Amino acid sequence: MTEPVAIKKNIFPLVKSLYPLNRSITGNGVRQTLKQIQDYIPLQIFEVPSGTKVFDWEVPPEWNVDNAFIEDSAGNKVVDFKEHNLHLVSYSEPVNKTLTLNELKKHLHSLPGHPDWIPYRTAYYKRDWGFCLTHNRLQALKEGNYKVVIDSSFIEGSLTYGEFYLQGQNSREVLFSTHICHPSMCNDNLSGMAVMTMLAKYLNDLYGKENSAKLSYSYRFIFIPATIGAITWLAKNEDKVKNIKYGLVTSLLGDKGNFTYKKSRRGDSPVDKVVPFVLQNSGKKFEVREFSPYGYDERQFCSPGFNLPVGRLTRTPNGEFPEYHTSADNLEFISSGKLEEAFDVFVKIIDTIEANKKYLNLNPKCEPQLGKRGLYKSVAGNIKEYELALLWVLNLSDGKNDLVDISIKSGIDFKTISKAANDLLNVNLLKEIK
Ligand code: ZN
Repeated sequence: MTEPVAIKKNIFPLVKSLYPLNRSITGNGVRQTLKQIQDYIPLQIFEVPSGTKVFDWEVPPEWNVDNAFIEDSAGNKVVDFKEHNLHLVSYSEPVNKTLTLNELKKHLHSLPGHPDWIPYRTAYYKRDWGFCLTHNRLQALKEGNYKVVIDSSFIEGSLTYGEFYLQGQNSREVLFSTHICHPSMCNDNLSGMAVMTMLAKYLNDLYGKENSAKLSYSYRFIFIPATIGAITWLAKNEDKVKNIKYGLVTSLLGDKGNFTYKKSRRGDSPVDKVVPFVLQNSGKKFEVREFSPYGYDERQFCSPGFNLPVGRLTRTPNGEFPEYHTSADNLEFISSGKLEEAFDVFVKIIDTIEANKKYLNLNPKCEPQLGKRGLYKSVAGNIKEYELALLWVLNLSDGKNDLVDISIKSGIDFKTISKAANDLLNVNLLKEIK
């Protein structure tokens, strides 16, 4: 058995080793990323050909880049993709020409408010090109001619995504989805990938062997390019999604901010109850937000035609920290402590999902006599919490409340409620409702 403590220690090193790769929505950076993840889990890698129709969209041509730079008339490289992959606008078309500074400036992006940071820009669905640079460097550019070289290619290749599936006792599924399409940024995309990889490894080590115990639910982890990847996955798996009982989109797990849970579109799915419940019990500050059709891939999973029970768990949400989509979302911006804390929260969520059963009281007319079954030892007026838990479980096991509901209503911790339910099950006072 692998200890979670040992597995957790791999999260930050995995972020570090994936950091330099130039990911985009397609291309070799994503393939190399998924290959590295395969060092930890038996991830299945899928290639969906460019041009494949996926609902209202089409898988785009595959984009790769070898080299990209801007050179001044003296031959100095003033911007170089090899220095930082954020320097090139993702999906830039090939270019080889000389421009005046004024012409060039139409293709340059910087952040005047953060003059040392490089912004992150994309041009996925329009043929365009551009460079991103620090505002300081932009301002230092002198009048004159500049040579621009972008050695990129668009080919009829494919969109690449990864999937890890762990079969449980039944086909009801828990889905975890994280995006993998950003170049060198840590909190936005790498934190999600690394925490999900180690969470999947944790489950696989414990439950993935042929003769090991099985989890009650099946677990599916998908590593997909944002938007087009989620749309592609849904188009290819439309028949499977009815099995999803809990789902979480995740990333942004390494910053210092509190956890933020965004509810599914349904607003009252089991995941909307369990995740805030776990966060509440962790004793940490957190925020719960209502669903909105903007953000990450919850936009696709919660589109009205699917309306899946998929919420989203992050720390500080996208767009709400200044480092978001800039070169300042780097290895210093995140910490192993915060990543590991997020891992622990996910383990707790899984534990709770697995233990959150619903029962029916088989002796609902008046209280059953617990003393003769060896479950009730207190004298009147001196009841212990465990015994109170027995009474709550019996009273609320009417087919409507699950154990999380009973813990919330009784104010008794989930562990005690679960133990009480298990003991009542063992003396045939409860029956599980599936
Ligand atoms: Zn992003």
